[in-house]
Amino acid sequence: MELNDKVAIVTGAASGIGKAIATRYVRAGARIVVADLNLDAASSAARAIDPSGRSMGVAMNVTDEVAVNAGVAAAVAKYGKVDILVSNAGIQIVDPIESFTLADWKKLLAIHLDGAFLTTRACLPHMYKAGSGSVIYMGSVHSKEASVLKAPYVTAKHGLIGLAKVVAKEGAAHGVRANVICPGFVRTPLVEKQIPEQAKELGISEDDVVRKVMLKDTVDGQFTTVDDVAEVALLFASFPTNALTGQSLVVSHGWFMQ
Ligand code: NAD
Repeated sequence: MELNDKVAIVTGAASGIGKAIATRYVRAGARIVVADLNLDAASSAARAIDPSGRSMGVAMNVTDEVAVNAGVAAAVAKYGKVDILVSNAGIQIVDPIESFTLADWKKLLAIHLDGAFLTTRACLPHMYKAGSGSVIYMGSVHSKEASVLKAPYVTAKHGLIGLAKVVAKEGAAHGVRANVICPGFVRTPLVEKQIPEQAKELGISEDDVVRKVMLKDTVDGQFTTVDDVAEVALLFASFPTNALTGQSLVVSHGWFMQ
C-alpha cells in the first residue's frame, strides 16, 4: 500500500495515534501536515516524523473555524492539494452523568464533532476539485459500544459514524471516500490519564482498571497499539476505489465483535 506524493492532513498528530499514523504515511511516501494545538509541538513532530523536511506543522485548534480554514489553506498553499484528511484530535473526560458539567460536555463534543465537521468542510472542496480523496475519522469501540463515565465521548464517537456516512454519500460523485477507525484501548497519554481517574471514580486499583475494565472483553488481554491503528489508517487512505466507503472498522483485540 503506497501513498506516493499524496498529501495528508492529520489532526492531533503531535502525539499518540495521530503521530503514528503520520509516521506510517511518511513511510508510505506521503507528505504530512501535522495539525495540533501548539505550533512548536506540531512543527517538531513534523520534523521528527519526516527528517527529509517534506512535511510541515500547523497550529490548529480544530474547534476554531478560522484556525481550521487557515491551517488547510496553509497546507494547500505549500503542497497544492489535500488528498487525505485524518480527523483524529481528541480528548477524554470521565465523570458520571449526574456530575458532568455542561462546560465539559460541550468541550468534548466540540473537539470531536465540531472538529470533524470543520476540518472536513475545509478539505472537501480541494478533494472535489481533484476528483478524489479519503476522509478518515478516529472513532473508537465507543462508536459502537458504551462504557460508564463516558457519556459525551460515547455520544461523539457514535456521531462520527453518522458524519462519515453522509460524507461517503455526498463525496461519492467526486471520488471522495469516508470511513471510521474504531480502536480499542491504546496506551497513549489520553489513556494513561484515565487509569488513575477511573480507579478513583470506581474505587478500584489502577491494575484492576486495566485488567477488569479496559481489557476485560478482549480475546487476549492485550492493548491495541498505535501501529495497529496506523495500518488500518493506511488501508483506508490507500484503497483505490469507492467500494470501501461509509464503513467503520474495529481494531480492538476482539473487545467488540460485529
Ligand atoms: P493523545 O492525547 O496522545 O493525542 C491527542 C492529540 O490531540 C494531542 O496531540 C492533542 O494536543 C491534540 N488535540 C487535543 N485537542 C485538540 C484540539 N482542540 N485541536 C487540535 N488538536 C487537539 O490521544 P490519542 O489516544 O492518540 O487519541 C487520538 C484519537 O484517538 C482521539 O480522537 C481519541 O478519542 C481516539 N481514540 C483513542 C483511543 C485510545 O485508547 N488511546 C482509543 C480509541 C480512540
